[in-house]
Amino acid sequence: MKRLFAFALLLLSLQTALAQKQALQTPAQFLGYTLGQEFTTHARITDYVLYLAQQAPNRIRVQEYGKTYEGRPLLLAYVASDENLPRLEQIRENNLRQAGIASGAVQGKQPAILWMSYNIHGNESVSSEAVLQVLYDLVDPNNQQTKKWLENTVVILDPCVNPDGRERYVQWYKQTQNRGGNASPYAWEHYEPWPGGRPNHYYFDLNRDWAWQTQIESKQRMAQYNQWLPQVHADFHEMGPEQPYYFSPAAKPLHESITPWQRDFQYTIGDYNRKYFDQNNWLYFTRENFDLFYPSYGDTWPTFNGAIGMTYEQGGSGRAGLAYKKQDGDTLTLTDRIAHHHIASLATLQATAEKADQLTQEFRKYYDNNLKKPGGDYKTFVFKADDRSTGNLKALTDYLDQQQIRYGYAGKNSSTRGFNYATGKEESVKVSQNDLVVSMYQPKSTLVKVLFEPNSNLEDSLTYDITSWAMPYAFGVQAYALKSRLEAGNQKPTKVANTITVERPFAYLARWNSLQDVKFLTDLMAQKVKVRMSEKPFEMEGKQYEAGTLIITRTGNEGMGDKLDAVVRATADKHGVPLQASTTGFVSSGADFGSGSVRFLKMPKVAVMSGEGVSPYAFGEIWHYFEQQIGYPVTVLGTNYFANVPLHEFDVLILPAGSYGRVLNEQALEQVKNWVRGGGKLIALESAAGFLAGKKDFNLQKKSEGEGAEKDKAKESKEDPYRLLRAYGDREREAISEDVQGSVFRVNLDKTHPLAFGYGDTYYALVRTSDTFSFMKDGWNVGVLKKDNYATGFVGAKAKERLRDALILGTQPMGRGQVVYLADNPLFRGFWHNGKLLFGNAVFLVGQ
Ligand SMILES: [Zn+2]
Repeated sequence: MKRLFAFALLLLSLQTALAQKQALQTPAQFLGYTLGQEFTTHARITDYVLYLAQQAPNRIRVQEYGKTYEGRPLLLAYVASDENLPRLEQIRENNLRQAGIASGAVQGKQPAILWMSYNIHGNESVSSEAVLQVLYDLVDPNNQQTKKWLENTVVILDPCVNPDGRERYVQWYKQTQNRGGNASPYAWEHYEPWPGGRPNHYYFDLNRDWAWQTQIESKQRMAQYNQWLPQVHADFHEMGPEQPYYFSPAAKPLHESITPWQRDFQYTIGDYNRKYFDQNNWLYFTRENFDLFYPSYGDTWPTFNGAIGMTYEQGGSGRAGLAYKKQDGDTLTLTDRIAHHHIASLATLQATAEKADQLTQEFRKYYDNNLKKPGGDYKTFVFKADDRSTGNLKALTDYLDQQQIRYGYAGKNSSTRGFNYATGKEESVKVSQNDLVVSMYQPKSTLVKVLFEPNSNLEDSLTYDITSWAMPYAFGVQAYALKSRLEAGNQKPTKVANTITVERPFAYLARWNSLQDVKFLTDLMAQKVKVRMSEKPFEMEGKQYEAGTLIITRTGNEGMGDKLDAVVRATADKHGVPLQASTTGFVSSGADFGSGSVRFLKMPKVAVMSGEGVSPYAFGEIWHYFEQQIGYPVTVLGTNYFANVPLHEFDVLILPAGSYGRVLNEQALEQVKNWVRGGGKLIALESAAGFLAGKKDFNLQKKSEGEGAEKDKAKESKEDPYRLLRAYGDREREAISEDVQGSVFRVNLDKTHPLAFGYGDTYYALVRTSDTFSFMKDGWNVGVLKKDNYATGFVGAKAKERLRDALILGTQPMGRGQVVYLADNPLFRGFWHNGKLLFGNAVFLVGQ
């Protein structure tokens, strides 16, 4: 009897197991807790997505499109109807045909493509919880509603765009939280420690990286995105916990390149969301705060690629935890936050599905106009190719390839007129056959216009972000914008090959013009090749060489033996660096290779400050520069133990922007100064330079604190006394007269100083603060703004005033060492390509 009972039990459990295998598990069944009760780790998110793909292969496909810097998988889930899923590839190709990117005629009726991205900001952690419910709803065979919507819509979901950041937050929260969460806003679990979970591994804000794609997550994701080009893109975020919910329509300013249809559809989708939020009595706001101007967000970049791009914001973020008691006494729970993003996702799908035909038609029209009737005054962009631009042009074409922007080469010499980015004027232009040409008559012309045009018109100056990014300045290539159409030939320019005929030259020479040259130098250093640098321009064998030219002599490299030639040549080829050979150390003008002004470049041991007080972004940009861009060893120091670090272990110490009051107290600063006097090099950027300004032995002075400030005050007091009668409602607008929102300025350089080598007389900086410095009496004013150095972008009237006669880049010898002040951050967001050489100069050339 007993045995029979046991048998029956076994049978029963087998049956249940079988039934369970058939019925699709909800997130709660799969995870063992209801969504919202605790945070789900990235590993478990991945498990559930893969589980769904395994259980419902007729409805969902999952692709691992890459890995994060920390090695976590990046996933895309493709959800479509039973009919559409098998022909996904066909739908994709057909969609690219609609855009004119793939060749051939569009075949048959095309579903709309909706792409939804979750958790790009790691600590805006609700998104990757909500997406699990969304996925379940889309895949659940009993859900008639989603089944209907999927008839004419393909949904692509990125469940977690930034797994490293999310995991930083989630793990910390789990370690810190009270059981079940503590709603008190003062509980530890609501105060994320430095650096916070928002950015990725290198502390880059991935939602500022859509257009620049400097990070591995963005690069891999955008490669996929470009294969699909959806009609609708929704990006899910969170804001402060006291705020309710935000959905489109977006706030002003909207970039002028956004079409009336794209503007209208923002309202349409807003209406769908509104309906559900009103039904549930949930608060929300629209048309405020989140503008569509800066092109590197998850709403704007898709918009400039023909989609309806939208941001959704839930109140919560890294502050909210599982529960958070708000000022109005209500408790915001993770469950509430999930519900809102879940509904907004479904409302977006519904809107897309119900307007699918219109969306695909308008998408075609958009790309057709791009190709045949491109907007804007300029129809062609020309980038000059010469001896000095090889490296920067290579970086530019890599970037254009990444963006699917077509380009070619002039193919023949001609002359025309155009806007000269360097002078800001219309001038005559000589186009040479090897010049790079980007025509506006191409599918991605809107994106080209947004990225390349010299001026982006702001319809309203209150924006969330920087206001200028014109790529010719960012890439440091001499460029012209033409109103006329100039079609590019397809032929590649004659490649500058390193055809060195001398077998064992006296020396190899390499010009110093771009980041490629920095990589070449550091790669040689790593291989123990001794490299020298000429501090003066020289002429040799009929060729001119500018200051900064690298010289690799046989003398001094005897240790390399016969390998030297092969190593130098292979390294130059690897980095695309044109190499010259000389058979003598004698120059026809300038200094011979044996001269004291030809400096041996010592391989510096570099340390960078990190930790509490330092801006995570500013630090991350430097960390990324060394590890990912030039591949050079860097030691990261923490502010919490800096006092115990024996500085003599290092040659260079970099202080990224931050507040240094606590870490560099009087005693610590004295130690740093002693180390500099003994031969160390201190590089202080932005607010770190500001911190040193006015301190004993540092010759830097803030403009707002020097003699100039007195004059400004005197002038102000003479102004109209009624200026004090300001309207309260105008306060935000008033404040911006003090602002400079990432604008481009021409910096006048002292090209004889190593900090400026490789640039000539000017450098275009992306200036983000009007907190500038006076010219130094004791020290080298290497990069300065004079009277009219403004190039493009928004600058408030008062800020413009302060950005006159200001020091941007300077150095100060101190004992046997150097202090380098960079008031501008040349590595900002890793996209200002032209700044990377400047930073290389500071680290590898200055003070050698
Ligand atoms: Zn966000």
